[in-house]
Amino acid sequence: MSLLVVGSVALDTIDTPLGHAEDALGGSAVYVAVAGSYFASPVRMVGVVGGDFPAEGIEFLRGRSIDLEGLEIIRDGKTFRWGGRYHTDLNVRDTLYTQLNVFENFDPKIPPSYRHSEYVCLGNIDPVLQQKVLQQVEAPKLVVCDTMNFWIERKYKELLRTLRLTHVLIVNDEEARAIARESNLIKAARDILNMGPRAVVVKKGEHGALLVTKTIVFYTPAYPLQEVYDPTGAGDAFAGGFVGYLAKTDARSDENLKRAVVYGSVLASFCVEEFSIGGLKALTEGQVTKRVNEFRDLSHFDGS
Ligand code: AMP
Repeated sequence: MSLLVVGSVALDTIDTPLGHAEDALGGSAVYVAVAGSYFASPVRMVGVVGGDFPAEGIEFLRGRSIDLEGLEIIRDGKTFRWGGRYHTDLNVRDTLYTQLNVFENFDPKIPPSYRHSEYVCLGNIDPVLQQKVLQQVEAPKLVVCDTMNFWIERKYKELLRTLRLTHVLIVNDEEARAIARESNLIKAARDILNMGPRAVVVKKGEHGALLVTKTIVFYTPAYPLQEVYDPTGAGDAFAGGFVGYLAKTDARSDENLKRAVVYGSVLASFCVEEFSIGGLKALTEGQVTKRVNEFRDLSHFDGS
């Protein structure tokens, strides 16, 4: 099934305790689309870049069979740039700068050839723009939405409107609590279910992910990696693996949502093993399947 991805396309400069990357390919749409491209077909991307966006970036995305008709290139503008520095505790990150550049006036236009996309993943852009995207897509089977504190604080009412059009919300624990205005995570997720989505996925970084629907609470740990090079984009790679798997299997039962959470966790684990999208460049089906099986073993035990 087809997957439409909308979000930021960026050049990231990243410092972690294990290294440095300069003007590396990044942005939420890139991570989601690349991770999703291992499962969904076709993957269609909507975003905006400047004339300075490297040709190798375009080539790489095309090489992953990502349709770039919806990638607007503003020749006399500059690409969105983000700089971040991670502490020894990789859960702590300082944003060094955010240069919105052409992303400041991002106005997502969905090409006619994208309008029948069956699966849609909305990156953490302004909720007004998320609604605008959905107005341009005809009856998608599944809408997955991400957001961030910036929008929760500034555009809460608009975000609630987007949530009414969303099937699955993917957020981190802090964002889930802020949306529901409830400190208990399970209660917060259940409150969000009353706002529109039929499923909420709460990402907890190295502590795994929680899936809550009206009928189930499912938890998966994160893959136990000994070395994390760059956590940037892990959440987006998770979202790409999650929605990509759902698009591939075209089933939205609770059981399939659980499997999708595991596939999301697997893609996130590959993502953080290298800088930028390096860890997602050339995965094989065998590598992905091996890690999915390792996930099964992680929390399987003989209860007798
Ligand atoms: P994550 O690690 O999941 O928070 O995602 C990091 C990615 O988000 C980086 O590749 C950044 O380029 C991108 N990013 C950072 N700040 C923003 C923002 N304000 N809006 C959209 N994308 C952003």
